[in-house]
Amino acid sequence: EFIFGHEMGHALQRQLLLANLGLEEDAADGFASFYTVNEVGPGPSLAAAILFDEIARKEGVPTLEGMSSDHPVTQQRAFNFLCYLEGSDPKKYQQSLVDSGYLPKTRAPLCPQAWAMLDYGWWTQLQPHFSAAFRARGDQEQKKAHARLIAETEALAKRIDEIRSSQ
Ligand SMILES: [Zn+2]
Repeated sequence: EFIFGHEMGHALQRQLLLANLGLEEDAADGFASFYTVNEVGPGPSLAAAILFDEIARKEGVPTLEGMSSDHPVTQQRAFNFLCYLEGSDPKKYQQSLVDSGYLPKTRAPLCPQAWAMLDYGWWTQLQPHFSAAFRARGDQEQKKAHARLIAETEALAKRIDEIRSSQ
């Protein structure tokens, strides 16, 4: 489901000629997270993180070929999948993903804002393409995502201040 989401991300970017602010492969991974976290649940992100972690272990030390790929380095993708999932509901995933050590404590504080930005980004990119039947729900989701992005951006600024003042 996650890989299908990734390929669907490519299809949407190319068919709708979406304006990209980053690399296409990153955006395709982002769509897989956006779609599966919102519509399916945690399963696909967790399965993808386990699969990519396994692939990264087989690949071993990153090579020049791996670093220069249009895809992010494999191990980094696994952490990105976990970060978006954790950020979508930090209370729910704190124990199982952060306290357990699967998502490092250095990355976790950034994830709620990263998720809010991704969620708002995709809802906004897709908004002009909503079907008539979906428009009311889609517009509402986009508005909700906008409010969440503002709140999470403010919360992140506070969290960074707290981290800095505790050092
Ligand atoms: Zn791809």
